[in-house]
Amino acid sequence: MNKKVEKELESVLAKIEEEIMQNNDDLLQFPQLPAKGITTERVLTELDNLQNLKHSDWINGKVSGAVYHGDVFPGVRKMEAEVVSMVLKIFNSPETGCGSTTSGGTESLLLTGLAARQYGKAYRGITQPEVIAPVTVHAGIEKACFYFGMKLHKVDLDPKTYQVDIKKVKRLINKNTVLLVGSAPNYPHGIIDDIESLSKLALKNNILLHVDACLGSFIVSFLEKSGVHGKGAIPLFDFRLPGVTSISCDTHKYGFAPKGSSIIMYRNSKIRECQYYVLSDWTGGMYGSPTLAGSRPGALMVGCWATLVNIGEEGYTKSCRDIVRTSMKLKYAIQGNEVLSKYLEVIGNPIGSVISFKVRDNVNDFSIYALGDLLGKKGWHFASLQNPAALHFALTRLTIPIIDELIGDIIESTEHLVEENEKHGDNKKKDVGDTAALYGVAGSVTTSGVADKVIIAFLDTLYKI
Ligand SMILES: *Cc1c(COP(=O)(O)O)cnc(C)c1O
Repeated sequence: MNKKVEKELESVLAKIEEEIMQNNDDLLQFPQLPAKGITTERVLTELDNLQNLKHSDWINGKVSGAVYHGDVFPGVRKMEAEVVSMVLKIFNSPETGCGSTTSGGTESLLLTGLAARQYGKAYRGITQPEVIAPVTVHAGIEKACFYFGMKLHKVDLDPKTYQVDIKKVKRLINKNTVLLVGSAPNYPHGIIDDIESLSKLALKNNILLHVDACLGSFIVSFLEKSGVHGKGAIPLFDFRLPGVTSISCDTHKYGFAPKGSSIIMYRNSKIRECQYYVLSDWTGGMYGSPTLAGSRPGALMVGCWATLVNIGEEGYTKSCRDIVRTSMKLKYAIQGNEVLSKYLEVIGNPIGSVISFKVRDNVNDFSIYALGDLLGKKGWHFASLQNPAALHFALTRLTIPIIDELIGDIIESTEHLVEENEKHGDNKKKDVGDTAALYGVAGSVTTSGVADKVIIAFLDTLYKI
């Protein structure tokens, strides 16, 4: 009986494949990034060819729903599959690797959380799932735990390296642990966790390990090729480490695709299946959906595909090299400039595109938020961090030509604050600016509920007309 069912299933699947996986010999094929990007004209011709793949007759209104105004399917399916395949390759996936496209890094993290919960339930009988992640992990992981009812253990950092403290991770692992998480790199400090050690822990304890490379994106994955750092300076963080079971990569960050595009990758399809939603007996027909959304925007996928094949491996390698050389310039300026090194300290040893810095521990009359506000007046938008109070800057291609101006403005603003202090005393206690004031309120324990209220009021404001 089983055999008969299996055979029938096989022939149904073959038919589905034949119908859905349209391709033809005239089309360019992109199982991996083209070494050299193809020209804009060629991308446009290829989009025309993809548009011409045989699709249902939606133009003449013969399709129920789905295309309320105008959209096309078979070409988009091919592009989506190729985008996933190209990104898997750059993260050194094994043959079994697979994934799906999502609307952004947060959705990728939600899905990896969901998959881990379901995987733990299906294969290890875990009903009270727990996740272990560094305090620096992206808020999206907390959101996943909040949405999917998992307990999150947040682990402190090693005070020297600012990587997650591996000993503490080890101590928190128990029979309910479904997922370990590390970042490559994290959002606050741009530091890559010790993924190699996490991989060993994951393997030893038979737990899934997610690497958040949403921000690392096409920077961290091209670091080796870029040649900016010596080989020994770049740790392993991708599927080459056997314990890594999933990786998220935001194509809409350093992949330069339009916003609303990220990839969640898995070591094998058994794990990916755990993120799928399947409802076979729905009155509306047999239903299945790979990600959180139902209907999804094909146009974004086309934008992502066109960007990837246009820039190509050579283009991404060059942009990684240019961006990281520039961010290293900022790092070395803070560490080496006479004024800056006296007051500021780079957090950890960032090797990618994000540099964060705080006030040196031995300086006590200097507020980093005041510095951020002062730089804001000069037009620079730094992100404000807390615990510890710090600023960070994620360098992009747009920052490259103005890096000297940026460094000059940080020096000038630092000098200005120091002078102000000498004239008027401690700028930490004074109402120096908006950010300083906001984090001053949020940081005091007695008023901690206030911070939540401020955030809620902000979110409400987004929808005011
Ligand atoms: C940006 C980012 C994400 C996801 O954020 P989205 O805004 O949802 O794309 C996840 N992790 C890190 C480290 C990030 O920087």
